[in-house]
Amino acid sequence: MEPVGADARAAVDEHWRCAIARCRARASNGAMTACDVAVARARERRGGGRGVFATRAFERGECVMIERALVGAQHEENVKHARACENCHRYVGTVSSAVGRRLLEKYANAAPPKPTTREDLVKLASGEATLPGADAFDGPREVGCLGACARNVYCSEACASEAWRERESLMCPGEKGMATNKRALDEFYAHARETNDIFILAAKAVATMCARASRASARDRDDGSSGKEIERDASAAEDFARLPFAVVANAPWWESVATPHDCEDERAEMEFRTTLRTLAQDSLDLLRSAWGETANAWPRFFTLETYGRLIGAFELNNLELVVESPVENYFLAIDAAPDGEEKRAAMRVTQPLLDALDTEYDIPLLGSALFSVQSGFNHDCDPNCEPMKGEEDIDGACVIIARRDIAAGEELTISYVSDEASKSRDERNDELCDYGFVCRCERCENELREQRSRKR
Ligand SMILES: [Zn+2]
Ligand SMILES: [Zn+2]
Ligand SMILES: [Zn+2]
Repeated sequence: MEPVGADARAAVDEHWRCAIARCRARASNGAMTACDVAVARARERRGGGRGVFATRAFERGECVMIERALVGAQHEENVKHARACENCHRYVGTVSSAVGRRLLEKYANAAPPKPTTREDLVKLASGEATLPGADAFDGPREVGCLGACARNVYCSEACASEAWRERESLMCPGEKGMATNKRALDEFYAHARETNDIFILAAKAVATMCARASRASARDRDDGSSGKEIERDASAAEDFARLPFAVVANAPWWESVATPHDCEDERAEMEFRTTLRTLAQDSLDLLRSAWGETANAWPRFFTLETYGRLIGAFELNNLELVVESPVENYFLAIDAAPDGEEKRAAMRVTQPLLDALDTEYDIPLLGSALFSVQSGFNHDCDPNCEPMKGEEDIDGACVIIARRDIAAGEELTISYVSDEASKSRDERNDELCDYGFVCRCERCENELREQRSRKR
């Protein structure tokens, strides 16, 4: 899907420059600064593909990059645990009401454990009662969706209008949403919830492309002078809109997913891949009927190939979206408070709630997201960078930290394998199957040499 030709290459370079310009880094004194990385061709070891490079030296522990998601979505089943801004994934509302709401849902069909009563929970959920000292952990007040849906909330007017402009006008099931067939849109969401909520992320990407393309062609119509940046014709507007998604590694979802271990033979594998393809086709059909006119205006965004490659891109590049829960932070702070009457009084209120929440008290916000520059980081089994968020990182942005001192010009790498340090070369490569390559990093090569010399 990556565009070719000299013009296209210039457009790709320009895309990376803009994407990096939108990233930030955090200096050791906490101030936000520009991000000092570049995207370039990587060395042969990486098959000549793209990589991200340091344009200055970094010290171990230093923040290399903070990037907002190109598109992100909270997992559907996680929504009951975390009420967050649809746009930046920051928690919204108060800790007290979050606890009340969660417990009311958990004990919808049974009495909550004593001494807590349903009335206590209703008061917490509605804001009539608050937990001692919890206000320090509260998020911003909830702002409703511009389309008046019950589905999404926002942390600010700015996030609500940005989301509306970028994708929510199409995604919104509310009465002011632009979908021409609301029933099909509801069916689309239901299908995604029943099968795989990655379709919601894919739909958000398609909506973003439609919005970008519409804006580009409107600019062309209104203002002849912008013709330099964006060609007049719709196909150029389409190329422009697709670019951020086209440049990330992608392959059709049903081809790129690794074969499940329970597939016994080739026929079972074929069936598995056909099922994925059919699921994607059903999902896309619902989306196309939900968005009638828009889908007709930008037919290239609604082919099964494009849809499949978007989902494939999420599989290949997705970084888990995680935001720490303020509810957990509140309970931890109570626990860590110095002993005394104040702490004992607080705990008399919080302990029964904590017991009622049981293992659920620390569930964070979880989802999937695609990040432009982060997706350009290559894998290494002993990477020099890692994604790691600090206390101040309260939204869904991806934060990359240097794991050791890095020289200017060095390629920046992360591990695509979880807990890579404790895993053998075979175990690591087993996980890398999903990405379609065998790792040739220094650590892998060293371990391979050791293995061979032991065999001799
Ligand atoms: Zn927000
Ligand atoms: Zn909405
Ligand atoms: Zn390796």
